[in-house]
Amino acid sequence: MSYKIAEIANAAEVLKKRLAKLENRADVLKAIELRALYEEIKTLPPEKRAAFGKEVNLLKQELQELAESSKQKEVSKDPIDVTAPFDVNVPTDKRPQLLASDKGSKHPIMKEIEILSDIAQRMGMEVVESRHLDDDWHMFTSLNFPKDHPARDDYDTFMTMEGFIAPAHTSTMQNRIISARKKQLEAGEPISVLVPDRVFRNEDLDARHEHTFHQHEGVYVGKDVHVGQLLATLKTFLQEYFGKELEIKTQPFYFPFTEPSFEFAVSCPFCDKAGCKVCGEGWMEILGCGLIHPNVLRMAGVDPTLYTGFAWGGGVERLVMVKYNIDDVRYFMSGKLDFLRQFV
Ligand SMILES: [Zn+2]
Repeated sequence: MSYKIAEIANAAEVLKKRLAKLENRADVLKAIELRALYEEIKTLPPEKRAAFGKEVNLLKQELQELAESSKQKEVSKDPIDVTAPFDVNVPTDKRPQLLASDKGSKHPIMKEIEILSDIAQRMGMEVVESRHLDDDWHMFTSLNFPKDHPARDDYDTFMTMEGFIAPAHTSTMQNRIISARKKQLEAGEPISVLVPDRVFRNEDLDARHEHTFHQHEGVYVGKDVHVGQLLATLKTFLQEYFGKELEIKTQPFYFPFTEPSFEFAVSCPFCDKAGCKVCGEGWMEILGCGLIHPNVLRMAGVDPTLYTGFAWGGGVERLVMVKYNIDDVRYFMSGKLDFLRQFV
């Protein structure tokens, strides 16, 4: 459209350029230039007013149409599927080849975590998820690691610039679990929870060490809880998992968050203690455990003179490796289909 009045033609040029850049194109109708033109109508001598007003109205109409037509153009664009692993506007023959959805399956670790969770639930435990980013308080302080204590060095993990920690163990959940269920405890019902989740360590990688793996953490707090209950619970839990009778063995160990602390071993499920390639001498160390340290209970707001508890923590990969006789932990994260397909 061409405007006879130069002032309006200039404004039209400016406003059309601006409209092209606006996110919400209809905003051009609120432009100060357009308002000024309308204001100007009133100041003009009566004989010029009609012609000027008509052109201003035409300009407004044109801008309105431009704004609307561009809106329609946007809407008519092909919809984008944000879940598609490629640009849907790419021609069919240029798209990457995809595996059919029925070719996928659960990762073996997830499957085994479901089995462990199912056993725990049948034993009356609640299953709780952990976090993949936590803080110093939950990682160390709430678990009775004094500041600058050398025991902190055993848990060399990753930290963000802001000081958050990628948890090196699932014990980061102990304080949360116990303090959130204090009322339940006071009502006479013990706290009984399993946490199976992902943890991270700054490890040199080899057949037995991964930077990212999974732990299963048992937490039980109640009245008069003792080591015998801990060992019986673990024995039942692991026998159910391996599907056979096991003998168990403990030896003293040190963890800041349990007292006493133990290393827990089971008789080799392959050779029944005779000794074999998998176990060596007939036993397999499988996790760490102990009675929850009174300071840990205290920090969760529970009186350790009234309640006691036990906790354990072990690697899920370790259990799965024993169960299926897998010799290298790195297979789990490798994404190697020939390994993963064995579990489908
Ligand atoms: Zn063996």
